[in-house]
Amino acid sequence: MARVVVTGGAGFLGSHLCRALLARGDQVVCLDNLITGSLANIEDLFGRPGFTYVEHDVSTYVWVPGPVDRVMHFASPASPADFARIPIQILKVGSLGTHNTLGLAKAKGARFFLASTSEVYGDPQVHPQPESYWGHVNPIGPRGVYDEAKRFAEAMTMAYHRYHGLDVRIVRIFNSFGPQMRPDDGRAVSNFIVAALRGEPLSVYGDGSQTRSFTYVEDEIRGFLALLDSDVVTPMNIGNPDEYTIRQLAELVIEVTGSSSEIRYAPLPVDDPAQRRPDISLARRELGWEPTIDVRDGIARTAEWFRSQLTPG
Ligand code: NAD
Ligand code: UDP
Repeated sequence: MARVVVTGGAGFLGSHLCRALLARGDQVVCLDNLITGSLANIEDLFGRPGFTYVEHDVSTYVWVPGPVDRVMHFASPASPADFARIPIQILKVGSLGTHNTLGLAKAKGARFFLASTSEVYGDPQVHPQPESYWGHVNPIGPRGVYDEAKRFAEAMTMAYHRYHGLDVRIVRIFNSFGPQMRPDDGRAVSNFIVAALRGEPLSVYGDGSQTRSFTYVEDEIRGFLALLDSDVVTPMNIGNPDEYTIRQLAELVIEVTGSSSEIRYAPLPVDDPAQRRPDISLARRELGWEPTIDVRDGIARTAEWFRSQLTPG
C-alpha cells in the first residue's frame, strides 16, 4: 500500500485515477484548486478511508504532511478551449506547478509521475508518433501555452532525475474521453455527444479531415498504473492507435446516440494539428499494455453517462 499525492485529482482523469488507486488499496491525497475540476467528480470519495482532499493551487508552494510514496502531477487545464481563457495559469501549473511537485517528491523520497501529452509532438511531421520524435510545436501560437509548459515539465522532470537522482515516470497521454468530462469542456468528444443528445448541430472545425486517436478512460488509467509500477523512466505514449478523422467521429457519435442532429462546419482553430496517432510499441513491449475498449463502445458508455447528467432533475 502506498500513499499517493494526486494533483488535479478533482478533474476528469485525476478523479478516475484517485478512484483506481483507492480500489487497489493505496491512500490518496488529492490536491486541486478547482479551476477546471469539480468536487462533484470526487463526491463519492469523501469519507472513504484513505482519501484526503485539500483545495490548493500547486503553482504556489506545495507541502503535504506525513510520508508520501508517489506524487502524480495531473493538475493542468487540458482543453484547447481553455488555452485562450486561462493561458497564464496553464503556463504556471506546467512550469511552477511541476517544479513545486518535483520538490515535494524529492523532499519525501517519492516516485514522481508526470501527466504529459501528445501535444509535445505539436503538429507532427512524423506519423504515427513514437516517443523518439522531438515534435513540431509553434512556441508563440495559441496552443504554445500548453505545449511549451508540458515540454518544460518533461525537461524539468528529467533534470530532477539526472541531477537529483529522483525516480520519475512520464506518460504522454493522447485524447482521452469518458464519464466525468465537463459538458462544456470544449473538446470534440464531449461537444459532439452533448450536441447529439440535445438534438443540436455538431460543429466540426475545418473540413473534418484532421485526425485524432481517442482512448477510453478505463484503458488510459490502467496504462497509468502499469507505467507507475514499471521501471521505465523515459516518456511513454499511452493512447489508442485507432485513428479517426473528426468528421468520422462526429458521424459515429450521431449513429451511436441515435441522434437526428446534423453536422455543421466552423473555422479550423489556428495551429490545429492535422494528424495524431500514437506508436505504442514501447507500452506493448514494456507494460504489455494496449487498449481493450474500442471507440464505439467508449462513445456509447460516455453518452450514457452524459444522458444521466443532462436529464432534467
Ligand atoms: P481537467 O481539466 O479535467 O483536470 C485538470 C485538473 O487540474 C482540474 O481538476 C483542475 O481544477 C486542476 N488544476 C489545474 N490547475 C491547477 C493548479 N494550479 N493547482 C491545483 N489544481 C489545478 O483535465 P484532464 O483532461 O483530466 O487532464 C488531466 C491531466 O492530463 C492534465 O495534466 C492534462 O494536461 C493531461 N492530459 C489530458 C489529456 C486528455 O485527453 N484528457 C490528454 C493529454 C494530457
Ligand atoms: N473539434 C471540432 N469540434 C469541436 C471540438 C473540437 O471539430 O466541437 C476538433 C478540433 O479542431 C480538433 C479535434 O476536433 O481538430 C480534436 O479537438 P479536441 O479539442 O478534442 O482535442 P485536441 O485538439 O487537443 O486534440
